[in-house]
Amino acid sequence: MPIDPTLEYDDQNIFAKILRGEIPCRKVFEDEWALAFDDINPQAPVHVLVIPKGAYVSWDDFSAKASDAEVAGFVRAVGHVARELGLVEPGYRLLANIGIDAHQEVPHLHVHIFGGKPLGPMLM
Ligand code: IMP
Repeated sequence: MPIDPTLEYDDQNIFAKILRGEIPCRKVFEDEWALAFDDINPQAPVHVLVIPKGAYVSWDDFSAKASDAEVAGFVRAVGHVARELGLVEPGYRLLANIGIDAHQEVPHLHVHIFGGKPLGPMLM
């Protein structure tokens, strides 16, 4: 079920549990600001999710409330992961679903990194 982005942060969401180590993940990268791990249902040869360490429901929540240091740390982490995965050449796709129309399912901000094959045009 897609989530209502106006909801308060639910610390029982699955990515909060992954951050706390209560649920395992296939970790790709971690630093002070972000955790990156393989998507459990990959849609491309490379499908990694990058999440901020802070408690933010969505990109909307994060961009409005996070500190400059959190925003910079998270954005740099996404770029770092893509470079470390060797995706810069030939390219990759970032995606963040926000709210009901975008069918966001997990109420903790996550940026999808897709790559490892020609991805074709963006489909809506
Ligand atoms: P959304 O539709 O942008 O919210 O995407 C949620 C993503 O989280 C989907 O691609 C799911 O496959 C992924 N996902 C859900 N649970 C887990 C998990 O426990 N580990 C890794 N990925 C997950």
